[in-house]
Amino acid sequence: MTFPATTVEIAQVVASGERSAQEVVRECLDRIEATDGALSAFLSCDRDRALSCARNIDAGRAKGDKLGPLAGVPVAVKDNICTTFGVTTCGSRILDPFHSRYDAHVIERLEGAGAIIVGKTNLDEFAMGSSTEHGASGSTHNPWDPARVAGGSSGGSAAAVAARMVPAALGTDTGGSVRQPAAFCGVVGLKPTYGRVSRYGLVAFGSSLDQIGPIASDVRDVALLLNVIAGHDARDSTSVDAPVPDYVAKLSQPLDGVRIGVSDRYFGEGLDGQVRDAVWAAIDLMHREGAEIVPIDLPHMKYAVACYYIIAPAEASSNLARFDGVHYGFRTGEPKDIIDLYVSTRGQAFGPEVKRRIMLGTYVLSSGYYDAYYLKALKVRTLIKRDFDRAFESVDVIASPVTPTTAFRLGEKTDDPLAMYLEDIYTISANLAGICAISLPCGLDRQGLPIGLQLTGPAFGEERLLSVAHQYQLRTDYHTKRPPATAAA
Ligand code: GLN
Repeated sequence: MTFPATTVEIAQVVASGERSAQEVVRECLDRIEATDGALSAFLSCDRDRALSCARNIDAGRAKGDKLGPLAGVPVAVKDNICTTFGVTTCGSRILDPFHSRYDAHVIERLEGAGAIIVGKTNLDEFAMGSSTEHGASGSTHNPWDPARVAGGSSGGSAAAVAARMVPAALGTDTGGSVRQPAAFCGVVGLKPTYGRVSRYGLVAFGSSLDQIGPIASDVRDVALLLNVIAGHDARDSTSVDAPVPDYVAKLSQPLDGVRIGVSDRYFGEGLDGQVRDAVWAAIDLMHREGAEIVPIDLPHMKYAVACYYIIAPAEASSNLARFDGVHYGFRTGEPKDIIDLYVSTRGQAFGPEVKRRIMLGTYVLSSGYYDAYYLKALKVRTLIKRDFDRAFESVDVIASPVTPTTAFRLGEKTDDPLAMYLEDIYTISANLAGICAISLPCGLDRQGLPIGLQLTGPAFGEERLLSVAHQYQLRTDYHTKRPPATAAA
């Protein structure tokens, strides 16, 4: 077997001794070197460190040590997740340079399981965006068509998996940033329930919405990664102390009798006809395989985008206050006084989208507007959450599109923030409600671009969610399709 292979396959061949971790990692690094020039999925790679970690795995194996479930598996990590090695940029000039003094919880978990972190991936600045065009280091290109965006903000992680540079990656999802790029790049991405995965060491954007999630080429891999990264961590007070089931072991639960909710709200104006047809074909297939299709209503979903674009910027404006030229990274030259130091540093180093969010957030939190906007948005958020609570009384999962269209062209929406924000119309409500949702490939459009199916589950319903997604994949081959340029590799 040669790389690229799935996470599960790589872990198996390393565990059996058929391949050494060093061989696997070297092949992966060579592939990144050969492929990434055209895609810009990675912001940094540390070849020497990756190979030395791989050497340790091989040495441990030779001594007879028990190997972790991801031993020898190369993994890429979005660059808003702190690592003690290399730099953490968040795609922003303001952090340049920033060397974290601690590893994020998920990094400890991945490395504890034997995974080899090969590099940090590109993103929209501070994860604000839907296209990975808003980062300080430029745009990531979609492996299916390099003239198109990879989606965002975890576009680097999704493109790296789609181009088979790595079998697995981590992204972060505040309003859709794991699921939307996964859909655009034809891979699988999971946003876990809020509190399922510790945010310790994730640079905060919208703290009540952010979750770290796995991206891989099939559901089994995503389940395996979730097994490793899920669980309680006292350093994140919102991380929940609930048992972590073995998600891989539970994938075989049958589709028969699963109740799948479908709401018109996901199929309204603005949805591309080809996306709609592919998602309905997926729903029909699951129905034929024994799932029950149940109409549901989510009456407040229509407010989700407006509600999110108040709450997320409000939290961002507060979280980003710490980047002031004193504590971190970049500092303006020769400021007149301390106020000038703050103003000039932030004025020079934040990009336009981040500034827009800080201004929006400051506005909705300011006295006189707080009640009219922020407080109102919090109330609407509760109504959206209640809609889902009610829906999940009669269904196990909800099926919908991930995005209204397939991947759009680079530059197409950069001058139109509202058009960019509408990209998140189907993904945002899961973050507002704190529930789990997965994006998986369910077709290709006439231009050969991937289409995503979203399945949404109740809080801590990952077990069922993943099994339904896996059962769908057992009956289809969309997840095995590869971008034309990488298919032969
Ligand atoms: N596109 C959304 C935004 O710009 C979501 C981003 C995310 O999930 N990190 O805020």
